[in-house]
Amino acid sequence: MCVAHPDGSIEARIVPNLQRPAMTHALRVEDNSRAGETCVPPRLEASVKRKPAWFAVGGLAVVAMVTVIFWFNPAQYRFYPFCFFYQLTGLQCPGCGGLRAIHQLLHGHVLAALHLNALLVILLPLFAWLGIRFAAKKLSPPPGARPFSTKWLWLFLALAAVFAVLRNLPAFAWLAP
Ligand SMILES: [Zn+2]
Repeated sequence: MCVAHPDGSIEARIVPNLQRPAMTHALRVEDNSRAGETCVPPRLEASVKRKPAWFAVGGLAVVAMVTVIFWFNPAQYRFYPFCFFYQLTGLQCPGCGGLRAIHQLLHGHVLAALHLNALLVILLPLFAWLGIRFAAKKLSPPPGARPFSTKWLWLFLALAAVFAVLRNLPAFAWLAP
């Protein structure tokens, strides 16, 4: 601020009085930029926040499918997808009888479920554990950890191949639905 004296001199309070508002302005700009960073998160943070929503949708879809399989026996209702492999070849694939097995399992008929698809029923707890582990690691991944080990996939494929061969052999017909 300029202070003019009656003798015409100007007091040297101009610099400190001008600097103060300038510094305040600079601080305000800095504060605004920080506020902007917190209000508008980067794209990466947004994708992490969207993950729980996708897992919730996936969980609801699984619950809906299980409910339909529980109330509508796949052995009686024809709106379920049919097996292309069985339609083409007449041979049982590793998944044949899977939906019927889940229906029997949901109603507490474990032996009937085992007869329809023993591989699925035996591996179901493993699938559930792998699914929960996969979801947990995706939601909060530990640093440097891979979300899913391929050894499980190869083990499952090998088991499914052996199961598919066996259930189509007359000696192991009890493995076919
Ligand atoms: Zn099949």
